[in-house]
Amino acid sequence: MKKADLHIHTTYSDGILTPTEVLEWSSKKNLTDIAVTDHDTTEGVEEAIKASGPLNINVIPGMELSCVEQGQEVHILGYYLDYKSTRLKDFTKTLKQARIDRNIKIVEKLNKMDIDITIEDVEEISQEGNMGRPHIAKALIKKGIVDTVDGAFKIYLSKGKPAYVERYKVTAREGIDFIHSLGGVAVIAHPGLVHSQKVVNYVLRQGIDGIEAVHCNHTDEQIKYFSDKAKELDLIQTAGSDCHGYLDNGVPKLGEFFTNVDVAKLLKEKADFYKEML
Ligand code: AMP
Ligand code: FE
Ligand code: FE
Ligand code: ZN
Repeated sequence: MKKADLHIHTTYSDGILTPTEVLEWSSKKNLTDIAVTDHDTTEGVEEAIKASGPLNINVIPGMELSCVEQGQEVHILGYYLDYKSTRLKDFTKTLKQARIDRNIKIVEKLNKMDIDITIEDVEEISQEGNMGRPHIAKALIKKGIVDTVDGAFKIYLSKGKPAYVERYKVTAREGIDFIHSLGGVAVIAHPGLVHSQKVVNYVLRQGIDGIEAVHCNHTDEQIKYFSDKAKELDLIQTAGSDCHGYLDNGVPKLGEFFTNVDVAKLLKEKADFYKEML
């Protein structure tokens, strides 16, 4: 079977593998198609395409857009969107700045709790990548404040915890429309992780093209449920490892959650359809 992993992060957001390293692992895992889907940015796509040449792997340009719907965070994956468009670059620049502003506020909240951390400490970890809470979590580990990233989220960074700060997000509907306007296909990411299934059902009626039924954090029951849902609504069923590059016994989970390469072809066909309509 030709395998496609359609959800992978790189150092351009909160992943720890560079796009080139992602391609090296994709080759080792015998993948024929992968999608680079960093949070709110497509900056890693070009390097990934460059690195894919000698490996004969198809890189799908993608992005994982953080959206909000009825107060809940919903991630929308955009595939085959025009990643070179100025409109996309302007939009992602705004989102990048919103992340920086939000993280400055989180650091201020932590300082008020007598935690000695600066935005420079966080930048040292995020480097040029889109800054996120995982980078703050790692800075807190480095300072000896917490032991694990999960611990940092549970004590300080998750919604409802003392250092949480909201950041600018578009609604799921706006996100889906924006992806379509760039000739891309919109897929709801890890719907099983959205708190309310009422919100998921709402998003499924906003022009979405597909459902990420197979995801590293979905249970077997959730995989079956969303797979059936995709069939019922005639939506594309996708799969992804959501790999952030962390190693388990020396290997990342990249490629461990995959779908048939025909799904990648379906995404391309649908994207071509949207591009023709532009
Ligand atoms: P942000 O993009 O700054 O809002 O941070 C959200 C990202 O943090 C998610 O996309 C995950 O990659 C990561 N994340 C969320 N919750 C946790 C957790 N409990 N432990 C580790 N990483 C998490
Ligand atoms: Fe992430
Ligand atoms: Fe996500
Ligand atoms: Zn992701």
